[in-house]
Amino acid sequence: KVRVRFAPSPTGPLHIGGVRTALYNYLFAKKHGGDFLLRIEDTDQTRYVKGAEDYILEALKWCGITPNEGVGVGGEYGPYHQSERNKDGVYKKYVDQLLAAGNAYYAFDTAEELDQMRERLKTAGGSSQQYDATSRMTMKNSLTLTKEDVDAKIAAGEPFVVRVKIPKGEEVKFKDVIRGWVSVDTTHLDDKVLYKSDGMPTYHMANVVDDYLMKITHVIRGEEWLPSAPLHVLLYKLLGWEDVMPQFAHLPLILKPNGNGKLSKRDGDAGGFPVFPIEWNSPEGEISSGYRESGYFPEAHINMLAFLGWNPGTEQEIFSIEELLQAFSLEKVGKSGAKFDPDKTKWFNEQYLRAKSNEELSAILTPILGKHGYSNLSSEFVSKVCGLMKERAVFTTDILENGKYFFEAPQEYDAQTVKKKWKENSPEIVADLITVFSNTEFKAEPLEHAFKQYVEEKELGFGIAMIAIRLSITGVGGGPSLFDIMEVIGKEESINRLKAGIE
Ligand code: GLU
Repeated sequence: KVRVRFAPSPTGPLHIGGVRTALYNYLFAKKHGGDFLLRIEDTDQTRYVKGAEDYILEALKWCGITPNEGVGVGGEYGPYHQSERNKDGVYKKYVDQLLAAGNAYYAFDTAEELDQMRERLKTAGGSSQQYDATSRMTMKNSLTLTKEDVDAKIAAGEPFVVRVKIPKGEEVKFKDVIRGWVSVDTTHLDDKVLYKSDGMPTYHMANVVDDYLMKITHVIRGEEWLPSAPLHVLLYKLLGWEDVMPQFAHLPLILKPNGNGKLSKRDGDAGGFPVFPIEWNSPEGEISSGYRESGYFPEAHINMLAFLGWNPGTEQEIFSIEELLQAFSLEKVGKSGAKFDPDKTKWFNEQYLRAKSNEELSAILTPILGKHGYSNLSSEFVSKVCGLMKERAVFTTDILENGKYFFEAPQEYDAQTVKKKWKENSPEIVADLITVFSNTEFKAEPLEHAFKQYVEEKELGFGIAMIAIRLSITGVGGGPSLFDIMEVIGKEESINRLKAGIE
């Protein structure tokens, strides 16, 4: 059975890249009738950010990416917080197994000593990051010290870490579902820390142990984890779990709109678009905007995210979540980075807005209207407004912003339009039309008919006459058919506004 997990660390808000990872895991699980787990990887206490976990849960909920196992749901492989699992000694057991087999060792190097080592390596022309075999033997660790010394140091409470002992000169190879064969010479791998004397495992150890214990079949995650994958593959081997090793799929990066590097929060600030699914209030009081608060529909957001790295290979761009999980496959996920396109994001929202029924839109718009002081409106009226305005809106709020005149008489008239189109005879035209409309059935078609008849009789310019009444009724020069607007706001209101227009 397919079992996949989304395993965020509560170190801050979920960036849309994280949401996309969750989405692909979700789609993959649903497509194969499998399980989608949510696991919280919170072993690094120094990077813990208050509120981040709640944020992650709420963001996933808004997106409709719901786990069927894990944090917030439960399940038979719990607990699903690594900090809680650690209390039960889950990781220690496997660290001890690696130590006993000689695949890991204690190291007592101080931060200072590590810095010195890095300096030495740098001047020797090696990688400054590595704690590797060549220097390993010069370090204070259980490979160089006697067992008595090691025991004494631990008993004396000297801080230590447990490092994996990477075998040298071997090839680690695995087949990434998206990237194909990945092969690394172990000489280039670092003796990474697996466990610390504070009793906490590191990401690598906890992640591999949990994927094993939770019977994860596919590890689908961002490209930034690709460099860690050889170590993870090696850990599976060293722990004797090779036969149940999950398949790996590393998703392409999400790039800045100009394609120049990874999309960051700063790009969003500069370009005026959110990079977070929902608003984030940092513990320091900083607020970052979210798609939800910016008026995006979750379905449109999901549809947009699905296309950041995947495409169905057809022309179709609008996919409901059900269609997505039918069409989705990891094989159709690309290797190269996916450029984020803020305009396309809006385009998706526009398409979803238009596809909604007037009644659905009315239900979304009504509370927004209420907040702006427009209450006690019938849902029939609001639905009609939505019907007239939805072709001109990207967000539901645009209906109010661009169609304020449905809810109140214009307070002022657009100066540009007045200057260009309000002629000397405009007041007379409006006055005449008040009489004409007063004696016409207040429906769009008869109103239009009466208007045309009047204009023809008087041999007037159609445009000038039209703009005269449009300005009086809406205050602006553009919008949906004026006669539709008049029908919706009704006879009394329309006539009043026409009168006010020539006062
Ligand atoms: N805790 C890691 C993260 O924050 C999980 C990476 C993985 O999926 O292995 O993304």
